[in-house]
Amino acid sequence: MIIDIHGHYTTEPQALHTFRDKQLAGLADAARRPASTDLGISDEVLVKSVAPQLKFQKERGGDLTIFSPRAGGMAHHIGTEAVSIEWTTLCNDLIHRICTLLPGSFVGVGQLPQSPGVAPKNCIRELERIVTKLGFVGVNLNPDPSGGYWTDPPLIDKYWYPLYEKLCELDVPAMIHVSSSCNPNFHHTGAHYINGDTTAFMQLIQGNLFKDFPTLKFVIPHGGGAVPYHWGRYRGLCQDMGKPALAEYLLKNVYFDTCVYHLPGIELLAKVIPVDNILFASEMVGAVKGIDPQTGHHYDDTKRYVDQVKGLSEQDRYKIFEGNARRVYPRLDALLKKRGKPGTHKL
Ligand SMILES: [Zn+2]
Repeated sequence: MIIDIHGHYTTEPQALHTFRDKQLAGLADAARRPASTDLGISDEVLVKSVAPQLKFQKERGGDLTIFSPRAGGMAHHIGTEAVSIEWTTLCNDLIHRICTLLPGSFVGVGQLPQSPGVAPKNCIRELERIVTKLGFVGVNLNPDPSGGYWTDPPLIDKYWYPLYEKLCELDVPAMIHVSSSCNPNFHHTGAHYINGDTTAFMQLIQGNLFKDFPTLKFVIPHGGGAVPYHWGRYRGLCQDMGKPALAEYLLKNVYFDTCVYHLPGIELLAKVIPVDNILFASEMVGAVKGIDPQTGHHYDDTKRYVDQVKGLSEQDRYKIFEGNARRVYPRLDALLKKRGKPGTHKL
């Protein structure tokens, strides 16, 4: 089974965008607020809207995508906490409907109603709802709700602890995923995302978060940002700070996905990061949509790169494509087992 742990709903029906436009217009003029949160989107429209994702899944040999709302669309920096709550609920509910309509293809991951300067503990209610009521298996956690200005405390600060307690209690991992950038210095997918991944990892080196939360699991997307490429720098910083060796210090809790859009990048990832910490993902349809003229294939067709990495055993490939996802997302594993799909290899 090929599990893509990182897909976003980037092909939403127009009705959702129209709602958002009105919701944001309502910030300036209450009269322009949407009259209802009923978007009037039929099941048929929803199924049709994910035709591109289903087509790529089939063409590229994927089976199941862990599916979450558009990351750039979370835009926690816009509006108030109330706006974020309303928007988050709507976006998560749409993901839930798609996963219910197409359970063989999608399993849900949610966004959180974060807002800059607002305590993350306020997100617990929605986290509990999406996991216990909607059956989601994970959540996207934005380390910078300000959208590129980093005004909230770092992830290792006690500010975030109530949310981590709930993540551990529910046994769901968080993908550390920024949203759009309102800082013109940072292009969102080209700079802000990769900065976010790298920054989050460095914060984890600086603190000692997993001493307090030994079962907390973070997935750092986009191949871990600059981390695998600069692994020597991070090992050295860890050593200079008197911390344990980096792999032993963080890799029981931190995982990387394969959203790296060329073969040499995936080769480096597989060489530097232990195979137990790599999860297959493509982030389609999203960050980079085009076809690479050097290969004739889409940049984000990442399965091709993993397939081409030399020196991986059959067991290694099983871990990257399925086994690690089942281990990092225990609720996904339980769901698949309930559907009569136990893993094919023992880990
Ligand atoms: Zn993403």
